[in-house]
Amino acid sequence: MNYRAPRGTYDILPEDQAHWRHVTETTRRVCELFGYEQIDVPVFEQTGLFERSVGESTDIVEKEMYTFLDRNEERMTLRPEFTAGICRAYAERKLHGRPQPLRLFTIGPAFRYERPQAGRYRQFYQIDVEVLGSQDPAIDLEVMQVAWQIYEAVGIKNLSFQVNSTGCPVCRPGYVEKLRAWYADRLDGICADCARRYEQNPLRLLDCKKEACRAIADEAPRIADSLCDECRTHFDRLRSYLDDLGRPYEVNHRLVRGFDYYTKTVFEVWAEGIGAQNAVCGGGRYDGLIGMVGGPETPAIGFASGIERIILTMKQEGIEPPGVPKPRVFVAYLGAEAKSAAVVLAQELRAAGVGATALWEDRSLKAQMRQADRLGAAYTLIIGEEEVRNGVVMIRRMADSTQASVPRSEAVAAVKEGNTQ
Ligand code: ATP
Ligand code: MG
Repeated sequence: MNYRAPRGTYDILPEDQAHWRHVTETTRRVCELFGYEQIDVPVFEQTGLFERSVGESTDIVEKEMYTFLDRNEERMTLRPEFTAGICRAYAERKLHGRPQPLRLFTIGPAFRYERPQAGRYRQFYQIDVEVLGSQDPAIDLEVMQVAWQIYEAVGIKNLSFQVNSTGCPVCRPGYVEKLRAWYADRLDGICADCARRYEQNPLRLLDCKKEACRAIADEAPRIADSLCDECRTHFDRLRSYLDDLGRPYEVNHRLVRGFDYYTKTVFEVWAEGIGAQNAVCGGGRYDGLIGMVGGPETPAIGFASGIERIILTMKQEGIEPPGVPKPRVFVAYLGAEAKSAAVVLAQELRAAGVGATALWEDRSLKAQMRQADRLGAAYTLIIGEEEVRNGVVMIRRMADSTQASVPRSEAVAAVKEGNTQ
C-alpha cells in the first residue's frame, strides 16, 4: 500500500524550515515587542462554537469545515480559524477579569475543506493576533502595526494595506437597505452566487471576486457615506493615526464582513504577484462576538495571516531567510575502540552546549568526511586507534581543511571557542 498525504496537505521538509522559522520567530519577536502574550487553544472545538461565531451563512461554515462525531457522538470541528477559540477561552477562563485590554497572539494550523491551489490548502498555518477589551481606534491602529511590522521584519516590501469601516448594528441596516435597492435594478448582471447573496447577505455582494460583479460593486453606494456618528468618528481617527505614521494604505469600499458582530474597522493586506490568492492577511473589529459566545459584552479586534502566503511572497521577492543552525561538530572515528571514545566525546560536546553528531555506521573516513561536509559542520573531530592510544584528538577545521592534534582533555574547549590552531 502506498500512502499519500491527504489532498491539500503537505510536508514541511527540513530544507523548508528556514523559511518557516524565519516567519514564526519574527512573529514572536514582533508580537512580544508590542507586549502581546502567546495563547494556544485546542485544534478542535465543539462545532456549535464555529457555527455561532464564524456565522452560519459563511463559506467556512457552509462548505469548508472538517466536522466529525467523536466516539461520544459529540459534533466536533477542526478549527477553521482562531478567533472563535480565543473568544471561547476568554469567556470560559474569565480572562476578562485580567487587566484589559488583553493582547494575545497564537501560531498554528487551521483546517478548511477547499479546492487546493498555490497558497490555498486544507491544512494551512496562521498567525493570529487579537486584542480584547478595548474600543479605542488607537488599538485598531496598533493591531495593524503589528501586522505591518511582522511583514517588514520578514523583509517583504510590496504590500498593499486595504482599510474600510463596516459600520455597526446602528448604521449598517440602513446601508444594507440602500445597497439592496441599488442592486434591485442590476440583478441581471450578477453571478448566481451573488443572486443568493442578494437574498441572504447583501453586504457580501461587495466582495465577490468575479470581474463582472466587481465592476458593478465598484459603482455601488459606499458604506462610508452611511456611517453613524460613532462609526464615522472611529474611522476618521484611525485614518488620521495611519496618516500620522506615514504608511501608505487605501480605503477600499468593497471590503466588508457580513455579520452583525463585525463592527467598524476591517482591513486586509494584499501581496501582488502571488496569484489569485493575494490576501496575506484579513482582520477587523468584532465588538459583538464575545457577548454572543457567552462572555460579557467586550469590544475586540484582530487579524489572521496565512504563513504559506507570507512565504510565497518572500520567495516572490527573493528574500533569503537566515539559515537554520547546523551541528558545529562532526565526530569521525576509525575502529571499535575509537568508536567508544567517540560516543563519549560526542556526549561531552553536547553537554557543553556544542552541537555534535556522527555517522555511527562504521564507514570509511572518506564517507564520514563527506557526511560532515553535507551537514555543514564547522569542525570534524577525528579519533583513530593511534589518537586513542596517545590521548589526543585530531581537529579538522572544515572551512580551510587545516588539521591539528590536541590533547583529548582540551578538544571540547577548543571547538567551543573556535581556537584550534
Ligand atoms: P480567501 O479570500 O483567500 O479565501 P479568507 O477571507 O477566507 O481568504 P480569512 O478567513 O480572513 O481568509 O483568513 C486569513 C488569512 O488566512 C488569509 O488572508 C490567508 O492569508 C489565509 N488563508 C485563508 N484560507 C487559506 C487556505 N485555505 N490556505 C492557505 N491560507 C489561507
Ligand atoms: Mg476563504
